[in-house]
Amino acid sequence: MHQNILDSPIQFLKGVGPKRADLLKKELGIHTYYHLLTFFPFRYVDRSTIHKISELRSDIPFIQLKGRIVSMAMVGKPRAKRLVAKFKDDSGTIDLVWFRGARWFERSLKKDEEYLLFGKPNIYKGAMSIPHPEMDLVAETDASLRSPLQAVYSSTEKLSTHGLNSRGIGRLLKELLSVSKGFLTEVLPIELVKKNALLPREESFANIHTPGGNELLKRAMYRLKFEELFFIQLRILGARQTRITSFQGLSFSQVGDYFNAFYKEFLPFELTDAQKRVVKEIRADLGSGNQMNRLLQGDVGSGKTIVAFMIMLIAIDNQFQTCIMAPTAILANQHFVSIREFTEALGLKVALLTGSSKTAERKKLHQALEEGSLDVLIGTHALVEDKVKFKNLGLVVIDEQHRFGVAQRAKLWKKNPVKPPHILVMTATPIPRTLAMTLYGELDVSVIDELPPGRKPVKTIHRFDRSRLKVFSFIKEEVKKGHQVYIVYPLIKESEKLDYKDLMDGYESIARAFPLPDYQLCIVHGQMKPADKDYEMQRFVKNEAHIMVATNVIEVGVDIPNASVMVIESAERFGLSQLHQLRGRVGRGADQSFCILMTGEKLSNDGKLRMETMARTNDGFEIADVDLKIRGPGDLEGTQQSGVLDLKIADLVRDIQVLQLARDQADALLSSDPDLKAAENAKTSKHLEERYRHIKDWSRIS
Ligand code: ADP
Ligand code: MG
Repeated sequence: MHQNILDSPIQFLKGVGPKRADLLKKELGIHTYYHLLTFFPFRYVDRSTIHKISELRSDIPFIQLKGRIVSMAMVGKPRAKRLVAKFKDDSGTIDLVWFRGARWFERSLKKDEEYLLFGKPNIYKGAMSIPHPEMDLVAETDASLRSPLQAVYSSTEKLSTHGLNSRGIGRLLKELLSVSKGFLTEVLPIELVKKNALLPREESFANIHTPGGNELLKRAMYRLKFEELFFIQLRILGARQTRITSFQGLSFSQVGDYFNAFYKEFLPFELTDAQKRVVKEIRADLGSGNQMNRLLQGDVGSGKTIVAFMIMLIAIDNQFQTCIMAPTAILANQHFVSIREFTEALGLKVALLTGSSKTAERKKLHQALEEGSLDVLIGTHALVEDKVKFKNLGLVVIDEQHRFGVAQRAKLWKKNPVKPPHILVMTATPIPRTLAMTLYGELDVSVIDELPPGRKPVKTIHRFDRSRLKVFSFIKEEVKKGHQVYIVYPLIKESEKLDYKDLMDGYESIARAFPLPDYQLCIVHGQMKPADKDYEMQRFVKNEAHIMVATNVIEVGVDIPNASVMVIESAERFGLSQLHQLRGRVGRGADQSFCILMTGEKLSNDGKLRMETMARTNDGFEIADVDLKIRGPGDLEGTQQSGVLDLKIADLVRDIQVLQLARDQADALLSSDPDLKAAENAKTSKHLEERYRHIKDWSRIS
């Protein structure tokens, strides 16, 4: 098979050579022709207008002039000489200045010949000049090759000193485009190109680097973004397909007595439409014979627990055991308490397993699990331990998935040695759709996008520290009404001494403002022993304490409907998704709830945007989108490990529609030709193998 020219080492490109090749590798990671080809411009400057010297203003970022040099002179002290040239068009004259390489320019620039000049005007001592303009002799430039839009590439200091500034890189790309003519063959299925009126591949690469106009640039960009996202989706969806076809899943063919009895007799409220839809989706998946790997997304308070529980009943109806794994003991305990109510009514056996379970208890529990007499196990990551063996585990529910590592999930997968259990991962951290489609593309996603009725949206207010006394008197009023209050301090890393001190200082001043016996306080933070934490927590749960002072250990999951105020101290130190999670702790009861964001006077722009966003909306997905825009996808939890975010041209924030289309088309292609074996898909398949092998399928659970 012949070597693809695009895989040639970059040093062989005319104008590169060993020295520059080395720099290109080190500075920009460009090793091959293909790497350079996909080193896309980060912006363009418009060279379609030619300005008049008499009309120049310093606020025009780039200008283009056509005219002649009428005189040149070296000026300044001997060691700091600069070249000043007078440049004239039919409207006036302006100075051009060269500080670096002045002698060389003096020798090579030609007087009285027509130049096309490109540069940035600058005001120096009241007079306008153009430092270091780019100069092209009109007679020597082929007008047909000149693009009205000039690509700008990011370069580095080192590259620039070796002639590879943006312009130098542009020159290499022109050379590359000309030698690779005929090799940039179509890799998308022809049908797809036609149907979506995509610009052909070679034309797209030509126009992205040397645009033939705005319209062509737009189409080239669209096409290349589509190509990138399409192949990533092919990769992800292909992996998903492999999983489905290579594993036989447990088939939960019947919905039986437990599910039905619960639905008819014990369900404490009517399910929301979103909950009903999701239960249906999951039921269909469980009955399909495939192994389920599903992400259940739903904003805080959207009622994921009851959905999970009903799904668990389906597993039990099919004679399987099930478990729920939660990230903290507090949460596990809370699930246990609420689920036990139902399981007792249904005559099912449920148990709790956490790090603090006693040895004797554990022994009994292990035995019951292995005999199959225990139907539901609820716990923390203690569940993952090898000693915990099930007779026939059919379904694993993982709550608040972002706290668990992939390895832990893999262990759960192995707890049924015959066939892997179905897995339902629940998360209250809404993941923007674009990210879900790439990062979790291999998982199926169900979304509860509706809150139970009667919830009053939490009112969110931003207050500066100087209004603290007002905030305190507001808290007193709420306590008088019988409500409870959270006051949360940031503790990003639980070992940070400073944070701990802030919390303790805060606690003291709160204790002074809310004295005994009228006010009962409790405190929960990460440096406490689990038992103490639990004790304090319980005082709040039982409404023995009015105010809980805490670090963000309470971020996840607790449900105390009587709590109506969430005060977040140093709110600017929290990320948007954390703020939203914290706010979700209130607004669960019938009365109006409040979230008060306390910050210092000085806020960064990001900080301001975060506070404004929180005050404006309660919609977790909207918040997640803003978060993505502020932080960029690379910063979101868990995303660093994934090659899918290493995008060369597409942007997950801006290109949602292209992504959706790419995904749909990739899906359609795979369902018509699952292994891409058809002759007309040969090029697509080859390109996928050659260029997208690196995309890691990290979302896989096994
Ligand atoms: P999350 O999705 O944050 O885990 P939960 O499952 O804890 O939310 O539910 C929050 C609260 O809403 C619980 O008290 C639960 O009983 C209640 N709830 C759930 N679904 C409904 C519904 N359809 N109607 C009324 N209340 C509901
Ligand atoms: Mg929950």
